[in-house]
Amino acid sequence: MSSKSKLYRLEGVVLNRRDHGEADRVVKLLTAEGSVDVLAKGIRKPRSRKAGHLELFAKTQVLLSRVTGSWDIVSQAEVVQVRSHLQGDFQLGTYARYVAELAIRFFEGEAGPQLYTLVDDVFARLDGGANPALLTRWYEQQVLALAGFRPEWRTCVGERGAGLCHAPLHPRADDRHPYGLDLERGGAVCHECFAADTREHTVRPLSPSALSWLQALQRRSFDDVTQFALPERTAKELAQAMEQYIAYHLERRPAALRVLHDSRG
Ligand SMILES: [Zn+2]
Repeated sequence: MSSKSKLYRLEGVVLNRRDHGEADRVVKLLTAEGSVDVLAKGIRKPRSRKAGHLELFAKTQVLLSRVTGSWDIVSQAEVVQVRSHLQGDFQLGTYARYVAELAIRFFEGEAGPQLYTLVDDVFARLDGGANPALLTRWYEQQVLALAGFRPEWRTCVGERGAGLCHAPLHPRADDRHPYGLDLERGGAVCHECFAADTREHTVRPLSPSALSWLQALQRRSFDDVTQFALPERTAKELAQAMEQYIAYHLERRPAALRVLHDSRG
């Protein structure tokens, strides 16, 4: 007969939690093998010993008990990194929820060690005082690439006449005409393709500054991009452009993003 143990260990970060029953919670953990829902019984009781070890966005180690036909049950939990700023600061928490939501929505449970490393790193940096807007823009480029939705920012994705344009894109501060963001074809278009395009809803203008930032955010490490100052105007343009891009590809606007925009007024 099988001697497979009913107990096993997992390390993961808490992506979200929802109340269940009178005192329990279902906790969604992102691990190196993907995301998994587990049941933390009694965690909402005042003297629960697990409570402090399964806070939102924390990195934690759990001992789970296998259950057939339901969620596996948390038998023990021991936090590895608490990330208290993400729990205590509303705005940082909103950025963290957005990071978690993209990981959930783009991957739907199936993910590998790269996503786990990325999300864990972004939560740690957010909690550690990194510029949250810049970090979020960098994360978007990384998570899109991992999910197979990597935007093309370096050559024109436009089509004119019979063929594809493929013009290399080298945005310069003194460019006099805008580039375009083509949601449908998944990337940027050159001046000529943007001027020639008549699809109103899936192509929007993109400034040279925003395009060169998108190129850098996609190809450079986060430590690299923090060497440059992101102008306020470009930051706003990038946030709007990527919101549209992601909404188009998810077909629904992420709920956490809506809160983030509303809270700024
Ligand atoms: Zn073109």
